[in-house]
Amino acid sequence: MKVNQSEFIISAVSPSQYPQDALPEIALAGRSNVGKSSLINRMLGRRNLARTSSQPGKTQTLNFYLINQDLYFVDLPGYGYAKVSQEQRRKWGQFIEQYLTNRESLKLLLLLIDSRHEPSKDDLLMYDWVRHIGLPIAVVATKADKMPRSQWQKHVKVVKETLGMPKDDPFFLFSSETGMGKEELWSHIEQAIGY
Ligand code: GDP
Repeated sequence: MKVNQSEFIISAVSPSQYPQDALPEIALAGRSNVGKSSLINRMLGRRNLARTSSQPGKTQTLNFYLINQDLYFVDLPGYGYAKVSQEQRRKWGQFIEQYLTNRESLKLLLLLIDSRHEPSKDDLLMYDWVRHIGLPIAVVATKADKMPRSQWQKHVKVVKETLGMPKDDPFFLFSSETGMGKEELWSHIEQAIGY
């Protein structure tokens, strides 16, 4: 997809604030610091639309970005940040769960995993749960440029095996630094929204 236009619409703290135009939505989830903001910026060809946050775990909102008047990216709060209290964690869980289970216009969840590390317990929980509710999911392994090409295959294998991914499930090795994976991911998104 050629992105001609992208804009930040709202940081929603409740469902009443979600856009009501029924355009397709692509949600993005992952641990704090996994590279979600950077991926959004790279996918949209913007430098700083999604702020690369220096305070991980702070934002407990759903951030909606409108693209070409055609679809939304919905940035979910990063999980797994140690300094968040149990109570905040519980609230986060409910908020996200409600969105992911009830939102009709949601077409695909992108689960971001740092390609250099084995997926965490939280990553696994998220992956299993999203599959369980039947929402289409694609795994995006981020920060590929941070390791030598010779290690890609090994790390991809670890991520896929730890998650227990079926062989042909959508998986993308990505770098916000170099743009690796961008076109492939856009193709998949287009397919998911029937573009
Ligand atoms: P978020 O908390 O998931 O939104 O993560 P950010 O997008 O803020 O990224 C966290 C840190 O990782 C920042 O310092 C980014 O510059 C860095 N980062 C994110 N993606 C990449 C990538 O593809 N390559 C490299 N080298 N660094 C990245």
